[in-house]
Amino acid sequence: MTTTEAHGLERVPFSFELFPPRSDAAEHNLWHTIQQLAAVGPDFISVTYGANGSSRQSSLHVLRYILENTSVSPLAHLTCVGSSHFEANRLVREFLDAGVTSFLALRGDPPRGAVEGDHFLGDLGSASELVQLIHRVQTERAQYATLRSRSAGGVGQIPTSRAKVRVAVAAFPNGHPRSVRSNQDIDTLLAKQVSGATMAITQLFFHADDYLRFVADAMAAGVTIPILPGIMPATNPVRLSRILELTGERRPESLARRLESTDSVEEQHAIGVEHAIGLATEVLDGGAPGLHLYPFNQHQAVLSVLEGVGLTTATPSTARANIKESA
Ligand code: FAD
Repeated sequence: MTTTEAHGLERVPFSFELFPPRSDAAEHNLWHTIQQLAAVGPDFISVTYGANGSSRQSSLHVLRYILENTSVSPLAHLTCVGSSHFEANRLVREFLDAGVTSFLALRGDPPRGAVEGDHFLGDLGSASELVQLIHRVQTERAQYATLRSRSAGGVGQIPTSRAKVRVAVAAFPNGHPRSVRSNQDIDTLLAKQVSGATMAITQLFFHADDYLRFVADAMAAGVTIPILPGIMPATNPVRLSRILELTGERRPESLARRLESTDSVEEQHAIGVEHAIGLATEVLDGGAPGLHLYPFNQHQAVLSVLEGVGLTTATPSTARANIKESA
């Protein structure tokens, strides 16, 4: 029985997260990666946003590529830390104008050197406020589009400015590194839901129980939005160390030791993929509503994970349908 059949679903949704390229060669590789990922029919492909807006234009460039060259819906990460209301408003409008209607609303990390409690936040103090702002901006655009179309006397096709937005938020199964009390992350997630978030995506984790316990506690506290598990195939020890540094997650000892036990790139790749398949299978069996995979801008490992879990559904014809002819 495939995972999809086991879950009684027509199709278990899955998605990918990419980051903007830092060189022309990396950009060329990224377009190839996007084609490979689009071919298996993800629910969406998300694109990260550099701390304090540092990748605004390059994020938009990748989002536009996805919009223009595939049939996959792009999802834009946005951060609000350090922004004034005016700047955040303008940022959301710019992405909506580009045709993006799905967002991951994040507060973002404090600037280097600043600590929690310093005056670094700007006008929006949390991701919840950015969720509200995105909905407000879109509602205003929709009202404006309706007024314009009425005054022009037509009904016609619904323009992007009237399309509904979907706003996801981050969740932290093992706690945000700056949380000061247990349950703070569940309270924060509940606040994001109340603000209008329609889905949560988790920080990566390495043990299924971390995710399953967090989801059970969140549901008990009243969280009803789907919480997508974020899974990264850790296919080399250096990348694993770097990602632990960035996220503040605890080192998964047994996985780290296995990766360090060999210098063979192929063996390390196989170890990372096998671990991610085990993790993905356990969370899906435990009721996860889908999978959000971190490919590190390379397609091989995440596609092997999907295949291992039995979720790669693309046939040559559906694969072509997800890539526009002009690509
Ligand atoms: P918030 O949810 O607002 O919370 C931040 C902290 O404040 C938490 O400790 C929270 O518990 C606490 N808090 C929030 N509200 C309250 C309240 N009312 N009372 C008390 N405490 C509160 N960063 C980037 O720069 N770019 C990205 O593209 C990016 N993508 C990410 C994708 C995912 C899936 C995840 C999980 C994280 C991502 N991050 C990204 C990192 C993120 O910006 C940081 O973790 C940041 O420190 C917190 O952002 P947040 O949206 O979770 O903030």
